[in-house]
Amino acid sequence: MKRPSGKTFAVGLDLGGTKILAAVFDGRNRLLAREKKSTKPDLGPGAVLGRIAECVNEALAVSAVPHTAVCAIGVGVPGMVDTRSGIVRVAPNLRWKDFPFGKLLSARLHIPVVVVNDVQAGTTAVQHLGAGRKLRDFVCMFVGTGIGGGIVIGGQQYRGSAGMGGEIGHMTVIASGGPKCGCGNRGCLEAVASRGAIVRRVIEEMADGRKSVVHDMCDGDPRRIRSRIIAEAYLEGDKLVREIIDDACDYIGIGAANLINVLNPQAVILGGGLIEALGDKMLPHIRKSAWAHVIGATDERVKIVDSGLGDDAGVLGGALVARTLAK
Ligand SMILES: [Zn+2]
Repeated sequence: MKRPSGKTFAVGLDLGGTKILAAVFDGRNRLLAREKKSTKPDLGPGAVLGRIAECVNEALAVSAVPHTAVCAIGVGVPGMVDTRSGIVRVAPNLRWKDFPFGKLLSARLHIPVVVVNDVQAGTTAVQHLGAGRKLRDFVCMFVGTGIGGGIVIGGQQYRGSAGMGGEIGHMTVIASGGPKCGCGNRGCLEAVASRGAIVRRVIEEMADGRKSVVHDMCDGDPRRIRSRIIAEAYLEGDKLVREIIDDACDYIGIGAANLINVLNPQAVILGGGLIEALGDKMLPHIRKSAWAHVIGATDERVKIVDSGLGDDAGVLGGALVARTLAK
């Protein structure tokens, strides 16, 4: 396949603790190819870097785009990053600390690399190409392994005085005695409504003798439980999973209501693995729960909708920041 010359292409990379997703986009942000690899953080940062480079190389090969035609690679990392230097300060899921990721990946691939936080990348995609593209004030809630949030005010992403704003997963939704959260507190939204929390509760209840189709679906190995398995069990009518997802929806609704009452956004936009897998089932329940806590709630006042980007929000956001931030 013949491609036009010039650096018109961008690569978006969504780096998670479990999987690496790389995608190549043309100048009009159309997806040409996407490749996936497991992350394997246990092998160490050097090995993960190698897997990321392989994943990018494979995506470029499939799309027949030469390295020289790529303006930049934009990577969304689950942690605190210094975008100017490309250093990942802390990424707990990857076990990285002060890792000069941007520089190393760029040296390996001979393409400029832009490193941002993964939620920032997802919010950028929602803002420019997803459900937020005609809005100036909205909040994104990404429900996956954890719960991340992006706040857009007056068309700008809000990050707070020290760049740590938008940590909506750590708002307290259970006043006392709630489950422990990865942040060290108890009763955070993430500790009761993320995919991680849902999976933990399914495992605990099964260990207590509750029956669930999840047991067979993961071949008895809880480490293999993904959003898709939870979604399949829900759709099959599994009683345990339905109960736990319904509880999660109640809490996500409470979280959305708190954000709506404080920020008066035009919309709350939901994304992330669990919403991609089960959004049409979860959204009505989330809205119902939210309306019970929002002042003067009506559908006209504020919309609660899904991102409209499916699984591609992360890679698309990476490609968008690659274009805007690469020098
Ligand atoms: Zn927390």
